[in-house]
Formats: sequence, structure tokens, C-alpha cells
Amino acid sequence: MSDCIFCKIAAGQLPSGKVYEDDDVLAFHDIHPFARVHFLIIPKAHIAALSDCLPEHQALLGKMLLLAPRLAKEQGLDTGFKTLINTGRGGGQEVFHIHVHVFGGGDPARKS
Ligand code: AMP
Ligand code: ZN
Repeated sequence: MSDCIFCKIAAGQLPSGKVYEDDDVLAFHDIHPFARVHFLIIPKAHIAALSDCLPEHQALLGKMLLLAPRLAKEQGLDTGFKTLINTGRGGGQEVFHIHVHVFGGGDPARKS
């Protein structure tokens, strides 16, 4: 998807605040955080939305979810965090490359 912003980030064509990367997935800080810690986990392969996922994506989806607690802890969210997957226009999705929001730690304007 040549016009997909998250594909460009995954390909290194646009900068991001990288949190984690392997062959299949990338995690990076959300550019407009709504908590002190707020990052996104995406697959490197383009999948538009959760509603486009197929049984063949099961392992990839599991990998993304299993990464959430590990990366949240590494980012200092010791006592817990929130996860969010917006799906479709009616679900508030704005970037149509599937992503898991992981966030916590309160207001981003506060230091603690
Ligand atoms: P959603 O409404 O679930 O599609 O959320 C898309 C998220 O992507 C929003 O929280 C945006 O702040 C975030 N976002 C958009 N562009 C970028 C970017 N270039 N780098 C990091 N986060 C981004
Ligand atoms: Zn994409």
C-alpha cells in the first residue's frame, strides 16, 4: 500500500519513535499520545483493519497482543495499561493499517 503511512513507517521511509521491531511487527510511540506512555503495535505487512483479518493472521494477532504487556512494562507501566483497537470508521479508526494502541500512566502533560 504505497499511500499507507504505517507501511511507510514499517519500511523506514518515515521516522518513528521506535519501541520494538522484529521481522513481523513494529511498535512506536503515538505522535499524539493520550497518556504519558502511548505506543502502537503494528504488523509490518499491510492489513487494513481487524475486520479484514483471516484465520491465517491468528499467530500474528497473538504475537501483537503478547507483546503488549512486555513492551508496556519496558516503558514503565508497571501497574497496568490499556489496549485499544479501533476498527472501521464507525469504530473511530483513522489510520487504515491495523494497530493496537497500548497506553497508560495518566495525562501526557504530567511528568508522573
Ligand atoms: P486510530 O484512530 O486507531 O486509527 O489511531 C491512529 C493513531 O495513529 C492516532 O492515535 C494518531 O495519533 C497516530 N498516528 C498517526 N500518524 C502517526 C505517525 N506518523 N506516527 C505515530 N503515530 C501516528
Ligand atoms: Zn499499511
